[in-house]
Amino acid sequence: MMDSIFSDVLLDHYRHPRHYGTIDDPDLEMDGANPLCGDEIHLQAKIKDGKVEQAAFTGKACAICTASTSMFCEQAPGSALEELQVQKRRVNDMLQGKDLPKEDRRALKDIYALQGVSKLPVRIKCALLVWETWGLMVKE
Ligand code: ZN
Repeated sequence: MMDSIFSDVLLDHYRHPRHYGTIDDPDLEMDGANPLCGDEIHLQAKIKDGKVEQAAFTGKACAICTASTSMFCEQAPGSALEELQVQKRRVNDMLQGKDLPKEDRRALKDIYALQGVSKLPVRIKCALLVWETWGLMVKE
């Protein structure tokens, strides 16, 4: 069971997190924590004309949280804020174990590799931390 959850895509993002580091002069930044697991991330972004220009993170987190945050930071640049809201809904649906239409699975790209996490309810928060942190960050 664990093997199917820790797919190659997930492990690749965990071992080689994309955009791990900091941004000079970020427009938005926020800490996110998931005390249930001990995940702590610091998320930063630069925004231009309603789109994410850059996203980066640092922190200490488990494989699922690190991979999910890496996937977010890889996809966010070039996305409009509203597009990320739609993506967040897809991620939520996926982690609740819903059967996603093909268009949604395609739109999730690498993130769909986290689908198996829906079978581990205690780890869902690990996968969602970056999205929840992002949601709070954009609201401020
Ligand atoms: Zn975790």
